[in-house]
Amino acid sequence: MNKIYDIFIVGGGINGCGIARDAASRGYSVTLAEKNDLSSGTSSASSKLIHGGLRYLENYEFLLVRKALKERDTLLSIAPHIVKEFRIILPHHKGLRPAWMLKLGLMLYDSLYFSKFIKRSRSIDISSHSSQGVLLDFYSQGFEYSDCTADDSRLTILNAVDAKKLGADIHTRTFVNKIEQIDNIWEVQTTNSLSGESQTVKAKVVINATGPWVDTFLKDSYEKSSDKNIRLVKGSHIVLKKIFNHDYSYIFQNADGRIFFAIPWEGEFTFIGTTDVDFNEDIDDISASEAEISYIIESANEYFNNKISRGDVVSSWSGVRPLFENGGQKAQKVSRDYVIREDSRVDDSALVNVFGGKLTTFRQLSEDVVDLIESIIGHKKPSSTSKNHLPGGNFKAIDKEALIHDLSKKYDYLDLDYLERLYNLYGTRAELVLSKVFTIGDLGLNFGKSLYQVEVDYLMKEEFALFPEDITERRTKLYLFLNENNLKELGRYMEKNR
Ligand SMILES: Cc1cc2nc3c(=O)[nH]c(=O)nc-3n(C[C@H](O)[C@H](O)[C@H](O)COP(=O)(O)OP(=O)(O)OC[C@H]3O[C@@H](n4cnc5c(N)ncnc54)[C@H](O)[C@@H]3O)c2cc1C
Repeated sequence: MNKIYDIFIVGGGINGCGIARDAASRGYSVTLAEKNDLSSGTSSASSKLIHGGLRYLENYEFLLVRKALKERDTLLSIAPHIVKEFRIILPHHKGLRPAWMLKLGLMLYDSLYFSKFIKRSRSIDISSHSSQGVLLDFYSQGFEYSDCTADDSRLTILNAVDAKKLGADIHTRTFVNKIEQIDNIWEVQTTNSLSGESQTVKAKVVINATGPWVDTFLKDSYEKSSDKNIRLVKGSHIVLKKIFNHDYSYIFQNADGRIFFAIPWEGEFTFIGTTDVDFNEDIDDISASEAEISYIIESANEYFNNKISRGDVVSSWSGVRPLFENGGQKAQKVSRDYVIREDSRVDDSALVNVFGGKLTTFRQLSEDVVDLIESIIGHKKPSSTSKNHLPGGNFKAIDKEALIHDLSKKYDYLDLDYLERLYNLYGTRAELVLSKVFTIGDLGLNFGKSLYQVEVDYLMKEEFALFPEDITERRTKLYLFLNENNLKELGRYMEKNR
């Protein structure tokens, strides 16, 4: 109770964890509380794109697109293990926009920020392209362009891991019940859902990085206001056994103007989404509705030869975008940019609220939030988050294959697919996962597929994993492959070792 932190962050999504990393790297004392698991909110439910957002050009959001494209390059260089370039096919739909307009849009997209890494767009003849045969014959012309994809949860968790390395205290399963400003110090009341223990923590600045809960938090925990600052827009994705056999993704436009993607995933799957519908229900209980699932299936069937039906859906996920409210527009038209607002300033104490944002721009958002804090509590060091690698990302993307090859020589008794999986999740930290492995038996218990005890131990010790779903849904995507017995055994092991 005696320590007074510089910064208390509420929320362990991409923004909260990004802010923790930036602030800790500048030398501020930081603590973060997340009521559930890190990234358990919107930051595990996105379309997993690190992109400028081709569709935002339609809304003339050139500055946002440029900012996001710049961040795409930064994230590629600081996290090459989890941020990857992929090629996307944009078929020309004769009933929608003219081809020249799409071409112009892509030229603009390429030139708003000249990427150091990313290939440029080009026109393609789909009927003779290597992806041929997947789309209906109606789609014979189109374009291909590049963007990046990243596992949203891993991006979030790696920020928290780095923040902790830099000195931040990260508390998961810790709900912030109440904040109260007494003179120029905040008293933050928290409850840990595992131990049931409550605590009061002091800090100069509180950051409300609760994403879609941002207004609920102000109302319930600060009793500050009943303002509606954000608009909640729900998006859902469905997962199917892979519906095409190449590495390209697709971007499609529906007749109603909505955009959706079909993206190869985890080797054996394709995910398709997203929808974009206003949401006024319980944010703590979100799932894809049957209407949304049907909408996605019907939309995909307008494009693919391989027809899909409800029975093909193996899983789905849904999330809610917290968009800054700018009144009355269609959900697709509301800006995806962020707004940072200072409130309740007393001397060097304040509350900072974060509204809106994108996964792609979290690092810049975090830097902007900490710049604001600097103006409230004083300067320490400049931000270095655009230059310093995220944990495991200290290599160049072009060297990745050679590094995996080196790893396979060192661990020649382990399966190459397993080593590749580890490298794609942990980068150079794969060696840390395997640090006590000298024979195949040292991998320990197997919990199904290629999930061994060494990885579980690593995730519990280094990446804040406490429950099976923390590992199978967020730190890896092994839930797609494991069965109920595997999960039960994993649960028993984790409970014993928690
Ligand atoms: C369907 C969909 C697709 C998207 N696709 C993309 C995309 O492809 N690319 C892109 O750039 N962006 C995308 N986005 C946007 C992006 O996902 C979000 O902007 C981002 O994840 C928001 O992060 P956040 O940290 O603000 O919120 P969250 O991730 O929701 O984090 C807030 C956290 O606060 C915690 N919390 C709430 N109240 C409390 C409390 N009282 N005490 C403690 N903790 C609390 C919650 O548990 C939660 O974990 C998408 C969004 C959606 C919904």
